[in-house]
Amino acid sequence: MQAPLQAPLRQAPPPVAAAPLLAPRVTRIAASPASVLRARARELRAAGRDLIELSSGDVDFPTPDHVIAAASAAARRGETRYTNVDGTPELKDAVRAMFASAHGLAYARDEIIITAGSTQAMFNALLATVSAGDEVVVPTPCWAPYLDQVRLAEGTPVLLRCRQNNGFKLRPEDLAAVLSARTRWLVINNPVNPTGAVYTRSELCAIAGVLLEHPHVRVLADGLYEHFVFDARRAPTIAEAAPHLKARTLTVGGVAKSYAMMGWRVGYAGGPAALIREMTKIQSQTTSCASSIGQAAALAALTGPQDLLAERTAVLAARRDTFARLINGCSGLACTPPEGTFYLMVSCAGVIGKRTRDGREIASDRDFAAYLLDAAEVVVFPGADFGLSPYVRMSFANPVAVIEEAGRRIARACAELK
Ligand code: PMP
Repeated sequence: MQAPLQAPLRQAPPPVAAAPLLAPRVTRIAASPASVLRARARELRAAGRDLIELSSGDVDFPTPDHVIAAASAAARRGETRYTNVDGTPELKDAVRAMFASAHGLAYARDEIIITAGSTQAMFNALLATVSAGDEVVVPTPCWAPYLDQVRLAEGTPVLLRCRQNNGFKLRPEDLAAVLSARTRWLVINNPVNPTGAVYTRSELCAIAGVLLEHPHVRVLADGLYEHFVFDARRAPTIAEAAPHLKARTLTVGGVAKSYAMMGWRVGYAGGPAALIREMTKIQSQTTSCASSIGQAAALAALTGPQDLLAERTAVLAARRDTFARLINGCSGLACTPPEGTFYLMVSCAGVIGKRTRDGREIASDRDFAAYLLDAAEVVVFPGADFGLSPYVRMSFANPVAVIEEAGRRIARACAELK
């Protein structure tokens, strides 16, 4: 059995004996689980293994042609210099227009920052506002980098488990119970990676109601998957559902998933000018600005034809249904088709305690993920990395033929467990 990839999400990584050249802050975090899995899959593939990678946060669609053409034209025009730290005025205006039309949110230019991926927007904000002893409430299961970003900023992530019987969504009463004078932020991701849960407007209003009594708490609203929402649902963002929160909310998004631009590294955030100013200061001392070419590409994505969003969402919905059916046919596995994102969160409770052909016990979701890698050459994400066991996360942002082959391999591997 392979060694676990990482310590479980619920614990901080074990203290590493402080090497003389390392700052303590770096020993408090681990490499992001996604980056570790991606590197492992690349290694195995280079060694000749025929892997199906269902672990990735990439979408398989291409970046649209008109976006690539715009980037290429920008490079040829000489848009190859540093841009303003907080982004080009054109892209900032496009983001403002998008926030207004998609969410009814009006932001001034000094309330917008363009960043190198939404990851950087969140980190700028946390670094600007969190100090030792400060708490950030993160509903789990969650995308793990929120936690280590808080730790890097010397703060303490407060993990708040969301129950399955509430669709893995945060309940207002649970939030009320953990807020304290030290709470600086609440993170709300909608739709949620990894569960695919989608908060409705009224659910967000109920959460916002709790925050009315805690005016010192800001909200980090991560809407990276907002366009991938199925069955005629919508994923509102909290400042739109509860306008009274807008003055203390950072609304974060990006082009990575919606326009299949993961590697272009462009994200954005809208929020109070005073916060954006401090985030910009940090950015000026770290990355200087997002890539000029990436920003030209993102501008084309946001201002060009938008039909592809609905088209791609429909394609994903069909793949979701196919994959959920295949997975629910596997012995010991169960999933509910998600409302959004492109991930299936699959319960593997039914395989826990079973044994492989060579007698090894599957004792955890990490064991099961390792087994699928060995026996089926399928890479999945252990739920432990998101704070949810015994589950594994599988992406359906893959062509149907790949999904069907993965389904066959996983079914065979599950059938072999006794
Ligand atoms: N938020 C969530 C929930 C994510 O899953 C990811 C990446 N997978 C990000 C933010 C960061 O994306 P990016 O930096 O590419 O915009």
